[in-house]
Amino acid sequence: MTHALVGNMQACIDDARRAILDGEEGPPDPIDFGNLRARLAASERQLPPVYRQRVASPFGQALDQLGSAGFTDMLLRDAAREREAGLVLDVAHAILQNGEAYQGVATDAFQEVVADLYDGFLSAEDRRGVPPPDHDVLSPLVKWGKPQFGPYTWPSDATERLGVEAAIVSLPPAHGRGGLLAWAALAHEAAGHDVVHANDGLESELSDKVRAALSKYPALADYWADRMDETAADVLGILNMGPSAGIGLIGYFRGLRAVFDGVARLSNEASPYDPHPADILRGFLAAEVVRLCPFAGRDAWADAILQETLQDWVNGQLRIAGKPIDQATARSSAEVVAQAIAQSHLTELGGHSLASIQTWRDRDEQIVDALCQALGVPVGLSAELTGGVYAAHVVAAAVRSALRPDADIALIFTRMLRLLKQMHDSNPAWGPLFVMRRGDIARHRIWPGTGTGDVPVFARAPQPARPRAQGHAAPRSRGNVRDAARDLERAAPG
Ligand SMILES: [Zn+2]
Repeated sequence: MTHALVGNMQACIDDARRAILDGEEGPPDPIDFGNLRARLAASERQLPPVYRQRVASPFGQALDQLGSAGFTDMLLRDAAREREAGLVLDVAHAILQNGEAYQGVATDAFQEVVADLYDGFLSAEDRRGVPPPDHDVLSPLVKWGKPQFGPYTWPSDATERLGVEAAIVSLPPAHGRGGLLAWAALAHEAAGHDVVHANDGLESELSDKVRAALSKYPALADYWADRMDETAADVLGILNMGPSAGIGLIGYFRGLRAVFDGVARLSNEASPYDPHPADILRGFLAAEVVRLCPFAGRDAWADAILQETLQDWVNGQLRIAGKPIDQATARSSAEVVAQAIAQSHLTELGGHSLASIQTWRDRDEQIVDALCQALGVPVGLSAELTGGVYAAHVVAAAVRSALRPDADIALIFTRMLRLLKQMHDSNPAWGPLFVMRRGDIARHRIWPGTGTGDVPVFARAPQPARPRAQGHAAPRSRGNVRDAARDLERAAPG
């Protein structure tokens, strides 16, 4: 039976599949050194001051040190552009595409989502009492390209090798026009990987917690613990973007599987060489993380995600270390992993748990409900709303709206981009002031943190919802995913 929350899943998968099949490559790699330097000089003037100083300027110095001959030599040595040349060209693309307004509206929308997802966890606003990250860098810069790699990120510990103080997040160019569910996957990259990599010891501490928690499941303990970068990225994505990140992951993977495997089904294969858990386990994990979030609809959403995952379960196919894993064991292990990652108190975070810094609450649900209305009417956001609602809420609302029976996915996508573009245009980190993150100066919200305010309303939308505040101020949400088989988060160069 089709669940009411996900009644339009097939159309959303088809939308993702079309974007994946599109295959547009984006702007060609800038391989002429002199021309690249000239274009970078023009483009960096379009960046906010903080990105000029901490990204464009050190990158220009790194290129100067390399010189024209060294640049050409690098391109020859990394012909596949998967290591140092891939990194250098991607940083260049990020600066050029921002400066030259490639896919202008979509790029600004993409930038806003990624900044919000990253800042949600790392900004001063959300980390009271939590030690600062080891790599205290700017929000990632975005770029389009390399459709064969899907969404991916170069975390800051890779870009630091060029002196660049921001991660880079990439999407296939066709996702600037459609393939909505891939946007939910951005939580996995920017709220997931880029956050995990901002703290040097976080991944290994989480691995230890998971291994210990799974002592009753020896076959699975190493399997999950050895895939902590990817697993923690999934968990963080959902803590930031809520159930949309989980259900979006499932639909997007099905779209990828339809294109690359010929069947729109989550893979049950657990490859020992894949740094990701099997798709099917990621579905179970998503359901259990949603069930841990403190909002009224958590069981309904967790059950919907679980039912979708169970539809793709193939008896006898999941084998780990040569042993068959039954469904009950697979599900129980995912429950243990969800709790260990989200709720363990972590030395790296000064004794806080990930879920205590960020989680999905009823307040987020109220904002998403209001945004679902805004996505259906041709009005902008009120000033109050842009001041209090975050980009991840907009993506969460778009995914949720698109999954409703008979939704117009293309229209929702266009409206999502416009709302995100509007938010980006008012983001102080992209204004003339020297501001690292929106959260660093966002001391005032439309509702107070003590839970007595109203949810922000739309200036001109009909019949806006005004539920009473409950609990604490909403955490800023952010979230993501991507295909296990094609998730080529790049290794650091060298
Ligand atoms: Zn990943």
